[in-house]
Amino acid sequence: MADSNGLLRAAADRSLRYLDEIRDRRVAPGPQPIDGLKALGGPFPEGPTDPAAVLALLDDVGSPATVASAGGRYFGFVIGGSLPVTLAANWLAGAWDQNGGLVVSSPVAAALEEIALRWLVDALALPAGTGGGFVTGATMANFTALAAARHAVLAAAGWDAEAAGLLGAPAITVIVGDEVHISLLRALTLLGLGRDRVTRVPVDTQGRMRAEALPPLRGPAIVCAQAGNVNSGAFDPIGQICEAAHAAGAWVHVDGAFGLWAAAAPERSHLTRGVERADSWALDAHKWLNVPYDSGLAFVRQPEHLRSAMATSAAYIPQTEQREPFQYTPEMSRRARGVEIWAALRALGRAGLADLIERTCRQAARFAAGLRDAGYEILNDVVLNQVLVAFGDDETTRRVIAGVQSDGTCWCGGTVWHGRAAMRISVSSWATTDEDVDRSLAAMLRVARAMRA
Ligand SMILES: *Cc1c(COP(=O)(O)O)cnc(C)c1O
Repeated sequence: MADSNGLLRAAADRSLRYLDEIRDRRVAPGPQPIDGLKALGGPFPEGPTDPAAVLALLDDVGSPATVASAGGRYFGFVIGGSLPVTLAANWLAGAWDQNGGLVVSSPVAAALEEIALRWLVDALALPAGTGGGFVTGATMANFTALAAARHAVLAAAGWDAEAAGLLGAPAITVIVGDEVHISLLRALTLLGLGRDRVTRVPVDTQGRMRAEALPPLRGPAIVCAQAGNVNSGAFDPIGQICEAAHAAGAWVHVDGAFGLWAAAAPERSHLTRGVERADSWALDAHKWLNVPYDSGLAFVRQPEHLRSAMATSAAYIPQTEQREPFQYTPEMSRRARGVEIWAALRALGRAGLADLIERTCRQAARFAAGLRDAGYEILNDVVLNQVLVAFGDDETTRRVIAGVQSDGTCWCGGTVWHGRAAMRISVSSWATTDEDVDRSLAAMLRVARAMRA
């Protein structure tokens, strides 16, 4: 076997070179590197290959076919980068190779989760005592939190959902806004609550649920609100929703995948007002906190509901007095996600976290101003890190999006907003500088002008 120290050093060197070069390369790979991926395949090798050669092949063929979302000019979907300290922590955690499921399988992972959870509850101004689980992302966070909701509303109606299932259970009323994120609908399907039997509440021009249009609630009910619309960045009026829902004994869940981070930035926290009154929250760490994939959290105000929803035991699994990570998530074995979250929070502190959120919001406003000044139409109120822009009619906008993507200076996706084609700009990365914004803006305007000509 090749010397493993040399192999790991080579991996670090290659990683550093990759990150060094990212500022100068195209954001989306061109057709050649993608075509080159064939070199990774072929038949299953009969014999071994030198690990150093495996690594070299992966880097030489794989790295050029990556999307440069680790750099500063990727504005697609809502995708952050990785703060250097979180990548460093991730490397060390990779060497640790801890199973984060049990205290006994990793005391350090369990301790870091507990600390990170406490710091997040503080940073996001969630109610003291809020518990949670570390999951792959906001999709699983929605699923996990809604499992706790399902448990609680059926338990209140005298039904044990975990033991008896849903066949014959009292019906649960589920309310969503008309701009609900697809991941929440997927979570409902997986939970047996159904995607099409939900009641959809109309939204306003920014995609916010109209609280006054909430239907009257009776019996077991879950209201799913949103902090941060994936297109506009807008927030549902969560305080008002909680007031109406709680008066009827309903559970309020908030999909706050990226928007909930606004609570950590003093100049944006007005957007999340009332969010602390909800019963559960879904959050992504791999988006705006800028930790490596995959990383999200489900928070539950009364953690015993989450514990009951996930409860399981076996004679071979020791139950300690401590918080057992696997009691709060659907998974048992899993990676130690608390490590990078802890590292990010420890390195940033309250001020650094607020600055990360604020800075990216200001950069979104810088995009919006530049595009508006050039005569293009901004379709949303730019309150957060999301910008929706139209470059003319739908056909023109779609051509500009394709042009921006193939130009390679930056990368933005498309969407349809209130019936109109739009380009989405999401500023979510610690690595984005004002110079990146200006360079990207210049590329967008160059492409848009070329389309007009
Ligand atoms: C991104 C997002 C999700 C899904 O998160 P994943 O981490 O991709 O699972 C859910 N809701 C909202 C509002 C999002 O922006």
